Amino acid sequence: MAKEDNYDFDIISLYKELGIRREVLDFGREVEVGLAKRFAAIDNVAEYNQLKVIHAMQKNQVSEGCFHYASGYGYNDVGRDTLEEVYASVFHTESALVRPQITCGTHALALALGANLRPGDELLSPVGKPYDTLEEVIGIRPSKGSLAEYGVSYSQVELLSDGTFDFDGIRKAIGGNTKMVTIQRSKGYQTRPSFSVGQIGELIHFVKNIRPDIICMVDNCYGEFVETIEPSDVGADLVVGSLIKNPGGGLAPIGGYIAGRKDLIEACGFRLTSPGLGKEVGASLGVMQSFYQGLFLAPTVTAGALKGAIFAANIYEKLGFAVVPNGSESRHDIIQAVTFGKPEGVIAFCKGIQAAAPVDSFVTPIPWAMPGYDSDVIMAAGAFVQGSSIELSADGPIKPPYAVYFQGGLTWHHGRLGILMSLEHLVREGVVVL
Ligand SMILES: *Cc1c(COP(=O)(O)O)cnc(C)c1O
Repeated sequence: MAKEDNYDFDIISLYKELGIRREVLDFGREVEVGLAKRFAAIDNVAEYNQLKVIHAMQKNQVSEGCFHYASGYGYNDVGRDTLEEVYASVFHTESALVRPQITCGTHALALALGANLRPGDELLSPVGKPYDTLEEVIGIRPSKGSLAEYGVSYSQVELLSDGTFDFDGIRKAIGGNTKMVTIQRSKGYQTRPSFSVGQIGELIHFVKNIRPDIICMVDNCYGEFVETIEPSDVGADLVVGSLIKNPGGGLAPIGGYIAGRKDLIEACGFRLTSPGLGKEVGASLGVMQSFYQGLFLAPTVTAGALKGAIFAANIYEKLGFAVVPNGSESRHDIIQAVTFGKPEGVIAFCKGIQAAAPVDSFVTPIPWAMPGYDSDVIMAAGAFVQGSSIELSADGPIKPPYAVYFQGGLTWHHGRLGILMSLEHLVREGVVVL
């Protein structure tokens, strides 16, 4: 049980048992020492957001009774209704819809759009192409039941080459039929930068100056609790996201949320259930405790994921790989991209993430053809909730530039293990020499 220099416990042996060699551990420690200031800043944001969430729970008198639930139609489901008040308080909006019947982020976005657009209306994306799954919702790629089939048109203004907004182009694109604007906060799997809440506020201000009645919706996926303010604090009429990402805190087993203006949320309720019924029905069936507890943990979970992303950026930047965002940039979401330039790098990285998981650590991810992708894709995830991307996960298409995207980690310590394990596998495969 020899204690070695710079290590408080015999943690070296434990890392070794997990499969991580000393050189990898030391390299990680060296990088981590340089990140102390940034980590402290992340903790400050988490502290603020933790207080914000607790304040919202106290203000709305969350009680033990909120964890019971109605069945059947779900009339007077107090836990459900109170949680929606809590979300409205956290996002500083008039109202919110937070339901297990909203199956994922795409569904929440489709709901917000479908509920508030009518035939003849136009939807505008002033930030270029939206997230892949929205292409079918909107009808950019023809699809059954798309907004296009219902007579809702769509236009898009590309970002300028430096990733900023094309204000002239946006002004020209806004016409008499423009009813709604959709702004995606996170870059998703594109190469553009993610937007800060401040930048989103500028864009909304610009749009509202042209026509104040245009509904501004923000796809907030992966962005919640990264900053101390949310898009609804800077003028967004609707903010939309998934509960198996940041705001579910890793505990919500399903769900999505929409927070915003009362009349718009009401329309979402009518669309989710039925005209006439709206938010009054929809039993919560026992998931409320996990929704509350997940929201309670979400600020620290998001902080852990951010630390992992920054740690990875700095590790791989130091080793000479291209990383987006880079090691020192400010963060607006929890996604990290690393470009390896060859398939072996992507595969070894994903094997390492998988090997560090609490669940399914013994399986080996391999590249595979996936519906909707034009190349083989490798995915690593050992999650408690299927597909949960607030849990540590990585994926990469096996095609140039051979980049891997990864995100999540319910705790910083797990994120660190995952990244060290990815490096260990890259060393084993000879892609990296330390
Ligand atoms: C994840 C994500 C979505 C879709 O959410 P799902 O839960 O996967 O349907 C939409 N937009 C962005 C930016 C996302 O990151």
